[in-house]
Amino acid sequence: MSIENRFDETPLAREIADLTRRRVALAEQQLPLPGRTRVFTIANQKGGVGKTTTTVNLAAALAQAGARVLVIDLDPQGNASTALGIDHRAETPSVYDVLINDVDMADVIQYSPEFEGLACIPATIHLAGAEIELVSLVAREQRLRGALQHLLSQQPFHYVFIDCPPSLGLLTINAFVAAREVLIPIQCEYYALEGLSQLLNNIKLIERHLNPDLAVSTILLTMYDSRTNLANQVVNEVREHFPRETLRALIPRSVRISEAPSYGQSVISYDGNSPGSLSYREAASEIAHRGEPAATAPPQPVEQPAQLPGVPVSTQFAEESGHESSYDEGHN
Ligand code: ATP
Ligand code: MG
Repeated sequence: MSIENRFDETPLAREIADLTRRRVALAEQQLPLPGRTRVFTIANQKGGVGKTTTTVNLAAALAQAGARVLVIDLDPQGNASTALGIDHRAETPSVYDVLINDVDMADVIQYSPEFEGLACIPATIHLAGAEIELVSLVAREQRLRGALQHLLSQQPFHYVFIDCPPSLGLLTINAFVAAREVLIPIQCEYYALEGLSQLLNNIKLIERHLNPDLAVSTILLTMYDSRTNLANQVVNEVREHFPRETLRALIPRSVRISEAPSYGQSVISYDGNSPGSLSYREAASEIAHRGEPAATAPPQPVEQPAQLPGVPVSTQFAEESGHESSYDEGHN
């Protein structure tokens, strides 16, 4: 065996060859642009599963590929704004003014320094009060939808990604009502699937009563560590339950992904050839090639009529019947 061949067989050499192959495949691709704006809500009431990281990096990957992309930061933590290098100090006009003071989105929109065509509606700390202030407003569940439709009639975007807080309150409901697609990031960890049934129930209720166009189109597995059996078990289980929705791309646990936001950058521009960047670009490519799913939502497990937070009992929904949910079983 030649020295070259032996070298080829080392794990490091294989990894480098694999990264090169993936980089070349991505470079050769041209992503199709959607015929109409695709609006995604990135939701999971579980904290720290990669919602913001996914929002920012998918948006950056699609913008890099030539799409016009808008990120709406709907989390008072403002992490998506930070990660995109967007000013979101308290006095900055923000999504709070859009929701509560009827300010046009066009008056608060900022453009990312990273990629042409990447824009952001920032969140400031004021948004923390919006959950309560919204309760007394007219059409409180539809306010984001109305503002977004108005913006889109003036400024076309190919994609809109709404980054949600880790809760199922009125802010998240506004995001579900404004979107047609839900993207759920699932962390490849123990407990990752807990609460998923409740999330799916709430989405189903929104679909039935507030937004018939809503569907869970995409599930993305995040923070995957191939060395652990547990991560592989979570991957297999999610793919088994959601074969159509789960992307083939897996987002690895990666230091480069976690350090990019501290430079106000996505990993796509911070370290474009790193495994994390390639994975997010592959996920973006899959989303673009799959296109928007057909109008009918896939069947989701429905357990009991969940009570939507922030919605008074008088407007709670009629009891669903005939559906069994087993999704949380075994994960509690
Ligand atoms: P929250 O519920 O608080 O909004 P989140 O669901 O938006 O959280 P992120 O903020 O995206 O989650 O990620 C949580 C933490 O994990 C962050 O510190 C982030 O940098 C880190 N992280 C996310 N994805 C990865 C990854 N693939 N590899 C390593 N670290 C990651
Ligand atoms: Mg977040």
